[in-house]
Amino acid sequence: MQHHTTRSALERLTEYYDDTELVCSECGFEDEEGHWRSETDGGVVEYTHECPDCGAVGEHTLTVRRD
Ligand SMILES: [Zn+2]
Repeated sequence: MQHHTTRSALERLTEYYDDTELVCSECGFEDEEGHWRSETDGGVVEYTHECPDCGAVGEHTLTVRRD
C-alpha cells in the first residue's frame, strides 16, 4: 500500500516555490530566508507568502486530485 505520492509531490512543490518564487511581485524584494506557508483542507492547497518589506501577500492555489 502506497500513500506517499500526494504528500511528496506537495513537498516538492513547496521546495520549488521556496527556491524560485520568493521575489515580491509588488516591490521586488527577495525574501531569501522566507518560506511559503501551505494550508490544505484535503482538496485544495493554498500557499501564501507575505513580503517582509511591503506586506504584499502572494498566493498560489492548487487543486489536489485524488483518484
Ligand atoms: Zn514587497
